Amino acid sequence: MENTKKTEANFIHNFIDEDIAEGRYADRPVCTRFPPEPNGYLHIGHAKSICLNFTTAEKYGGTCNLRFDDTNPVKEETEYVDSIKEDVEWLGFSWDGLFFASDYFEEMYACAIRLIEKDKAFVDDLSADEIRDMRGALTEPGRESPYRNRSAEENRKLFEEMRAGKYADGEKVLRAKIDMASPNINMRDPVIYRISRNKHHNTGDLWCVYPMYDFAHPLEDAIEGVTHSLCTLEFEDHRPLYDWVLETLEWPRPPRQIEFARLNLTNTVMSKRYLKELVDSGLTEGWDDPRMPTVAGLRRRGFTPAAIRDFCEQIGISKSNSTVDIEFLDHCVRNDLKSKTEMRNVVFDPIKAIIVNYPEEEREQVKMENNREAPDLGERTVPFGRELYIDGADFEETPPPKYFRLFPGNEVRLKGAYCITCEEVAKNEDGSVKALLCSYDPDTKSGSGFEGRKVKGTIHWVEASSAVPIIVREYERLMIADESGTETFNPDSVRERLCFAEPSVANAAPGERFQFFRHGYYVVDTEQTTDALAENGDAPREKTVFNRIVGLKSSWKKGSSA
Ligand code: ATP
Ligand code: MG
Repeated sequence: MENTKKTEANFIHNFIDEDIAEGRYADRPVCTRFPPEPNGYLHIGHAKSICLNFTTAEKYGGTCNLRFDDTNPVKEETEYVDSIKEDVEWLGFSWDGLFFASDYFEEMYACAIRLIEKDKAFVDDLSADEIRDMRGALTEPGRESPYRNRSAEENRKLFEEMRAGKYADGEKVLRAKIDMASPNINMRDPVIYRISRNKHHNTGDLWCVYPMYDFAHPLEDAIEGVTHSLCTLEFEDHRPLYDWVLETLEWPRPPRQIEFARLNLTNTVMSKRYLKELVDSGLTEGWDDPRMPTVAGLRRRGFTPAAIRDFCEQIGISKSNSTVDIEFLDHCVRNDLKSKTEMRNVVFDPIKAIIVNYPEEEREQVKMENNREAPDLGERTVPFGRELYIDGADFEETPPPKYFRLFPGNEVRLKGAYCITCEEVAKNEDGSVKALLCSYDPDTKSGSGFEGRKVKGTIHWVEASSAVPIIVREYERLMIADESGTETFNPDSVRERLCFAEPSVANAAPGERFQFFRHGYYVVDTEQTTDALAENGDAPREKTVFNRIVGLKSSWKKGSSA
C-alpha cells in the first residue's frame, strides 16, 4: 500500500523543466490535455489525471485542453460527453480548448495517405485472427503479411476504396509498415485503420473507416500543439509507436509522451467496463450511486471538489503502480469538512426519554455552537422540553464495564442542557423499552457554572415534539474481499435508517452538508430528497434523505481520531 506524501514537484515537472531549458518547445507554451474516451462516467482515477494535467499547465503558464477521444464509434455516447464536462468543471478546472478527436478524421485520413505514399503503410487482406497468429511472441519474431509489398499506388487505391465503403467490416485493414521482428510487439506492423459501420455519436455515417488509438492519439496531440502528453504506464510500450508516427510524418517539434502510474484504490473498482456492468445490471442505482467511485457518485455522496483535489495532490505522481487505501480518500474529505460544516443533533435508533420532574408545557431554547473548531460558523438555538429522544446506543439496561452513558440509576449530561438520571425503564408488552423515565436537576444547566457532582458521560438529544424524522442512508464499501482475497460487489453496501433530527434541518437543501454530532458527516441527497419509510406504523410522511459522506473516526492513520 502506498505511503501518502505530498509531492509538489514530480518527475513529470522535471522532464518539462528539461525541455524548457533545452528550448525543445520554444515555439509554444506548455500544453497538456485530458483525453477521456466518452464511453462512461469519470472516476476518481480520471480525477488524478485531470488534476495532473490542469495543474501542470497552470504551473507553467500554459494551456490544458479537454479532448474527447472519440475514435471508436461503438461505445461512445453524448450522455457521457455531457457528464465529463460537468465533472471537470465541478472539480474546479476550466479547459482552454474543447476538442473532439472525431473532428480530425479528415486530417488523420490525410496522414494515413501520406504514410502510404512514403511506403510506410499498406492495406492488408488478412483477417484479424490471421494477423494475430502471425504476430509472433515476446521471444519469437512475427511473420510478414503476404500483402506487405503492395505498391504505394495499389495501397492508396485500396485505402480510398475502404473509405468509400467498398469492403465489408473486417475485410481489410491499413497497417503501418515497421518491423515484424521488433522486440516490441506494438511495432510489428500495427493496424492503424479498420472498417466499422457503426454509427458515430458525432460524425454519424460519414465514415466507415476509423483510426486505431495508437495512430490517432499522437496525431490528436500534435494537431492541438500539445507539448506534453501525460498518460498512464500501460502506454509506455506504445511510446515508440507514438514517436514513430510523428517522426515518419516529419511533424515539427512533436509532443513528448510521459507515463505515470494509474491510481488504484482498495475496496472499489476503477475500470469503466466493470462500473458500467454494475450500472447495467442494476446492482447500483446508476453512475451517480453514492457508492460508486465516479466523480458523479462522489459528488452525490457529499464529497467536495477540494477534498478530491487534495487527495490527488497528496497521493502524488509516481512511476510505479501501487494501491492507495480508500481510507485515505475518506480522511481527505473528513479533513476538508471538519471546519466547514455545521453541527446538528440527530438521534439514531431513537429511545424516548421523559423527564418526569420537568413541567409538561415548558419549552426552553438552548444555545449551541455550530462548530467548536470554527467559531465564525456561529450558534443556533435548539428547543428543549420534557420529552426527548436519545440515541439507542446511549442507553444500556445492563451496562458493560466502563459504560458512562445512560443506564438505570446513572446520571449523564445532556449536551447543552441539564444533567439527568434514569430512574425507571417503562416497557412495552413484548418487553422492549417504551421510554426512559428520568429526573433532571434544574441547577445543572450548561453554562450556569455548575460544579457539582462529576458526571462522566455527555450525550446528545432531540426534543420530541419538534423532532424532524429523516431518512439516513449509510454506505459501506462497494467491494469487499471474499475468502480468497478477491474483491467482489458488497451486497450489503447500503442501509436505510429512520432518525430524528433537531428542527433546524427541516429545510435543508439538496447538497447541503452537516456534521451530525457524534455520528459523522452527512449531505442532503440530490436525487431523492423525500422518502416514505413508515414510522412505528404511522402513515408515511415525506422525509428528507441524508447520505452519510463519512463517519467521524479515521482508521487511516493510527492513533488519530476525527
Ligand atoms: P478505464 O480503464 O477505466 O476505461 P481508460 O484509461 O480507458 O480508463 P480514458 O477515458 O481513456 O479511460 O482515460 C482518460 C485519461 O484518464 C487517460 O489519460 C488515462 O490515462 C487517465 N486515467 C484513466 N484511469 C486512470 C487512473 N486509474 N489513474 C490515473 N489516470 C487514469
Ligand atoms: Mg482508454
